[in-house]
Amino acid sequence: MDIKTYVALRKEALRDEIHKQDKKPVLLIIQVNDDFASAKYIAGKMKDAAEVGMDARHLKLPTQTSEEFLLAEIAAFNADQFIDGIIVQLPLPKHISEDKVKAAIDPRKDVDGFNPLSQYVACTPLGIINYLKHENVLIRGKNALVVGRSNIVGKPMAALLLKEDANVTIVHSRTTKDDLDFYLRHADIIVVAVGIKHFINKQQLKNDAVLVDVGINRGEDGTVTGDIKPGLNVKLQTPVPGGVGLLTRLALLENVWTAFKERKK
Ligand code: NAD
Repeated sequence: MDIKTYVALRKEALRDEIHKQDKKPVLLIIQVNDDFASAKYIAGKMKDAAEVGMDARHLKLPTQTSEEFLLAEIAAFNADQFIDGIIVQLPLPKHISEDKVKAAIDPRKDVDGFNPLSQYVACTPLGIINYLKHENVLIRGKNALVVGRSNIVGKPMAALLLKEDANVTIVHSRTTKDDLDFYLRHADIIVVAVGIKHFINKQQLKNDAVLVDVGINRGEDGTVTGDIKPGLNVKLQTPVPGGVGLLTRLALLENVWTAFKERKK
């Protein structure tokens, strides 16, 4: 099933489940920047939440907000029994420590999964693995290659694939071209999160490989392209746009829904 249809169906099911509740799940989005891209991402998250009947609240703080004030606000929201999930939109101003902020969010409310102690898996890897399972992609015993080792995508993606019993390899900026080609040729599932337009562009892959393109590369003309050249001859290749970005947005809703159910227990 294509990703747009899959996400629409899953959102519909989520909306039906939420409608049966006497209260709405509440997501708080804290923003401490004037970033254009952040504003766009937040608008998308607010729209998604509204579509499934969640109550999403946006707290925009001035960029000169002190670290101390932000941490105190987070502590207050952690203690607020009416809030299920808290996310802090990155980037933060330079005078605020990202690590301190991530660590300050209650692991039970950290629906972005950024805190190492969070009870939730980061949204991009979670969205990807849920989709692969939905598509009945066999993961157990398969060679999975993750290109990129970031904390929000590459590393948690590799951990999730390992949990699903794949043979996992991570390659990164220090991997030689020859080694990269070798791993690409042997991989059954390839997740690419590098941030370089059409980084994977040749057909040196298995014909039945599954390609997941995480990259979002914005051209000067406003076009968005992925890390993988479109139209490679493989079993499954996720598109950009309209691919992993949608899965990531869906996974945030799933995490808020889980947080809500956990809190009700
Ligand atoms: P990052 O910049 O933190 O990490 C990039 C990774 O690529 C690094 O680990 C680096 O080692 C690796 N890399 C760089 N050059 C390489 C090379 N020549 N060979 C192999 N590996 C190389 O990036 P990130 O936060 O993981 O994001 C990666 C891309 O995914 C970006 O385009 C980002 O915009 C996109 N992204 C999309 C979503 C989504 O929802 N679709 C979510 C997060 C990130």
